[in-house]
Amino acid sequence: MEKIVIIGTGCAGLTAALYAARANLSPLVLTGKHPGGLLTTTSTVENFPGFPEGIDGYELMSRIQKQAEKFGGRVQFGTLEGVDLGKRPFSLTIDGGKVEAQTLIIATGASHRHLGVEGEHLLENKGVTYCATCDGALPVFRNRPLVVVGGGDSACEEALYLTRFGSIIHLIHRRDTLRASRIMSDRVLAHPKIKPIWDSVITEVLDVKQDKVTGVRVKHLKTGAEGVLECAGVFVAIGHVPNTELFRGIIDVDSAGYIIPKKGPATNVPGVFVAGDCADRVYRQAVTAAGMGCAAAIEAERYLEAMNQ
Ligand code: NAP
Repeated sequence: MEKIVIIGTGCAGLTAALYAARANLSPLVLTGKHPGGLLTTTSTVENFPGFPEGIDGYELMSRIQKQAEKFGGRVQFGTLEGVDLGKRPFSLTIDGGKVEAQTLIIATGASHRHLGVEGEHLLENKGVTYCATCDGALPVFRNRPLVVVGGGDSACEEALYLTRFGSIIHLIHRRDTLRASRIMSDRVLAHPKIKPIWDSVITEVLDVKQDKVTGVRVKHLKTGAEGVLECAGVFVAIGHVPNTELFRGIIDVDSAGYIIPKKGPATNVPGVFVAGDCADRVYRQAVTAAGMGCAAAIEAERYLEAMNQ
């Protein structure tokens, strides 16, 4: 039987693994379908403390994994297929096999919602990105026209952040009013570098043949008119989808599917803890996920100690 199983190897999961390993709990850490999590999809991470020159997202995650393994963390490639959290120990179905666990840390992260248009997938990291904070400062975007898609707080935040780098920021939104909070909307609409394009959607990201973003095909939803808008980057900010499907109905989630922690990283099921983007709809940063992973491991350790007394 496992003392602690951690689901997810993003910043939250691997930091939890590091702390649990150093507590001699020899955690089993399951990668899921996306080893290393969302950060591995970004190029340079420039805001993780300790790396003033920036660090490649993949390398950062590899290093944290190595650090966790050094102290006895067991990272296993595999996917969680089912959970029974109604009995003790918990029963987990992993790639068809059964694993019993005394405690569980859910660090399954969230996925960026994608547009699903032609060119988007093929040009990911070649001008299409889902994180302005991670990628906005890259030289390829400097003093060039950029596009942000979305009308929520994330899109507004991305657009405002990108005004430091781009020559002009086109904010493409499918309606004619922003969903974002008033203060964010006001800031965006007042900014001289941000030009909203209302009632419009992107129908294609160009140019796959050149293997980089050169523009987007935009369709006006009311008139049906289509045109090409030149840009060097497309920042998609149309929301996130927390990876919590497996736990719904068992672990409390909010209307968007984010896990609701009860006290610190504890969930409504004693012995089950949560960390990172699957429980965070506000900050979603590597360093906050790492902090939550640390807290979840410490609480799991305390829970095990209390159980054994
Ligand atoms: P959100 O509020 O759900 O907004 C998503 C936006 O993307 C909406 O404008 C939506 O359009 C649009 N959209 C969704 N699917 C689309 C598609 N397929 N094609 C084109 N557009 C699409 O998501 P969010 O902005 O990530 O914010 C999530 C939560 O975090 C919110 O509660 C927000 O307040 C919070 N947040 C807060 C801050 C802050 O306070 N600084 C920063 C970021 C996020 P419609 O408007 O037409 O639905």
